[in-house]
Amino acid sequence: MTFKQMQPSNFEQVVFCQDDRVGLRAIISIHSSVLGPATGGTRMWDYGTEAEALTDVLRLSEGMTYKAAMAGLAWGGGKAVLIGDSKTQKTPAMLQRFGEFVDRLGGNYITAKDVGIGADDLRQVKLKTRHVLGIEGDPGSSGDPSPATAWGVYQGMQSSALAAFGTRSLKGLKIALQGLGSVSYYLLDYLAQAEAAVVGCDIDLAMVDRAVKKFGIEIVRPDEIYDVKCDIFSPSALGASVNAKTLPRIQAKVIAGAANNQLATPDEGHEIMRRGMIYAPDYVINGGGLINIYYEDPARGGYSKTRAFEHVAKIGQTVSEILERSQAENIPSQIVANRMADERIEAKRKSRL
Ligand code: NAD
Repeated sequence: MTFKQMQPSNFEQVVFCQDDRVGLRAIISIHSSVLGPATGGTRMWDYGTEAEALTDVLRLSEGMTYKAAMAGLAWGGGKAVLIGDSKTQKTPAMLQRFGEFVDRLGGNYITAKDVGIGADDLRQVKLKTRHVLGIEGDPGSSGDPSPATAWGVYQGMQSSALAAFGTRSLKGLKIALQGLGSVSYYLLDYLAQAEAAVVGCDIDLAMVDRAVKKFGIEIVRPDEIYDVKCDIFSPSALGASVNAKTLPRIQAKVIAGAANNQLATPDEGHEIMRRGMIYAPDYVINGGGLINIYYEDPARGGYSKTRAFEHVAKIGQTVSEILERSQAENIPSQIVANRMADERIEAKRKSRL
């Protein structure tokens, strides 16, 4: 079963880690280490079955390969899952044991935070391995990734505007921002400086309040955001918000936001093209946080915000390349992004032969 699942996307290595004494059941998936160490966070989740855990870790690690490749990083894609309830079953002994397994991979897998795993948990893992990044608050840490993510989204939005409206300037453009959380808060600052007109929404009234007080934006109810007459729709809250039901309601020419997995299915990518709209692929435009953490890797000489943000700014160029190729070849932008990532990996593989 496992080889059958690994073959189609050519996964390199899947490691099952088990220690009953500490209640550890974990799976580490290294999808690709062609471009560099397979990097990706550790998720702790109470999966219904082991098969679900395996499917999830494979899917997530493959996504990391593409994200790192399109971010121009010397990193491959990996991910780990711990099976269990992160609220009741997580213990220091379990996390340390997991750290030992990570260490045995000799740096070919680098871990970080994900759902259910926080900074304190990573500190436990780090007692046993140095191949851990992104412990906010620790010396040398790159800190909260949201500002870097927002900077990248802003670059990608400008490139999308160039493709759609012929200018990178967002001045006077109306932007419907779905979600006013961490990334959006920093993005709002850039949008205010660019003199864009923002209409926002959030299910959390505290977030709405914060955005209105600081930036004076217009607010609509969460479900109304899809009907806002705007130039750019920015999904920055949750996944699958662009789906068969919402897409016909979106009146924007551009879709560009921070959320992961914005398109419910690949069909939406084709429908976006058919409608003459432009979509900045989510994993490319939101790669700023990953780029930020890349510069925390001791292999790069220690964290530098300047170098990290300079690299993040290149997301704009990458989005432009994707959109140009998408138009020239008449292929949805997210498929173009995948192809470009595959080409980068293949080129590196060949250069090693
Ligand atoms: P966040 O949790 O701080 O903000 C998300 C906001 O969306 C919250 O305020 C939440 O109340 C709101 N929300 C949830 N459901 C909503 C709905 N139906 N309608 C309107 N608002 C809703 O998260 P974040 O760190 O700002 O990240 C935003 C998105 O970007 C997430 O999808 C995240 O996975 C993705 N992302 C974040 C980063 C990062 O650096 N933080 C990096 C890459 C991708």
